[in-house]
Amino acid sequence: MNHVFGPVYSRRLSKSLGIDLVPFKTCNQDCVYCQLGPTTCKLLERGSFCNVGKIITELKQKLEQVSPDFITLVGSGEPTLCKELGEVISEIKKITSIPVAVLTNGSLLFQSDVRNDLVQADIVCPSLDAGNDYTFQRVNRPIPTIDFDTFLNGLIQFRREYHGQIWLEVLLIKGITDTQEEVVQIAQCAAQINPDRIHLNTVTRPPSDISITGLTLSELEEFASLFTPTAEVIAEYPTVSEVITSAKDIQQEDILNVIQRHPCSLKELSFALSVSEEMLKPVLKDLIHQDKVEVFNIRGRELFRYKNK
Ligand code: SF4
Repeated sequence: MNHVFGPVYSRRLSKSLGIDLVPFKTCNQDCVYCQLGPTTCKLLERGSFCNVGKIITELKQKLEQVSPDFITLVGSGEPTLCKELGEVISEIKKITSIPVAVLTNGSLLFQSDVRNDLVQADIVCPSLDAGNDYTFQRVNRPIPTIDFDTFLNGLIQFRREYHGQIWLEVLLIKGITDTQEEVVQIAQCAAQINPDRIHLNTVTRPPSDISITGLTLSELEEFASLFTPTAEVIAEYPTVSEVITSAKDIQQEDILNVIQRHPCSLKELSFALSVSEEMLKPVLKDLIHQDKVEVFNIRGRELFRYKNK
C-alpha cells in the first residue's frame, strides 16, 4: 500500500499532500454521506496499521518532486484509529516545516492518547454534523460505545489542551439537518468547542447512502451566519487557472491513488495531477475499460470513482 498520495486540491487546505494511515474504509463511523462508500472495517479500538519508516521514506521522495501547502493526514478512513499517528506527525516535523493538518471525525478525542497525538499537528479539522444524539446516530452511525455527549465533550476537552488551529467542518444534509432548529443546535455545540474557523459543507460527492442529498449554495449561505465565528461556505472548485498543462507521462497508478481516496471530477483530477483534461481523458477511458474506475453522476456533476472489488 502506498501511503502518500497527491497532491490533491482540498477545499479547505489548497494544495495538500495526503498521507493515508489506515486500510481502505477502516472507520469507527459509517456516515450516510461518506464518499468512500459503506464502512467495511468498523473498528472499536485503535490499531497498528502502518510502518512509520516507510511513510517517511515515501514522503521524502515525494517532497523532492512537489511543494504542497499542507501535509494532510487523511485518506481511506479515520486516521486517529492508527496508533502510530503521533509518531508519524513527529517524524514529519523532523524532515519538513510544511504545516501538518489532520482531518478527523473527532469521535476519539475523548481519549487522552488521541488528544496527545494530535497536539503536535498545526491544524486539526474535526467534523460536527449533528447537535443532538438522535441526529448524530442517524447521520454518523458511530460504533455503539460513542454517544453524542462523549463525542462533544471530547472536542471541548481537546480545545482546552490544544493551542493550534481547530477548523471545524459542519456538513448539512437535505431532509435531516436543513432546518433552523437543527442548525441552531449544531451552532450551539460549535460555540462550546470554540474553533478558530467553521467550514460549512454539504453533500456534493457520491454518498454512501444514495438517497442522501445536499443543500443549495443559498441555503448554506443563509445558515452560515448562525455560527460564531460566521461559517465559511466551502467553495466547490479550485481556481483552475493554476492548472499546468504538462507533457509528462500520466501514470494510471497516480490517477488511482487520488480517486481511491477522493472521487474527483475531470477538472479536479486535472488540478490534482497538473495534467490537462484532454490528456487525462484517454487514460480514464482505459481505466474504465479495465473496470478499475467508474463514473458516477451527482447533481449534474460527473465524478470518477475507484471501483473497489
Ligand atoms: S466520512 Fe469519515 S468518519 Fe464518516 S464514515 Fe467516512 S471516513 Fe468514516
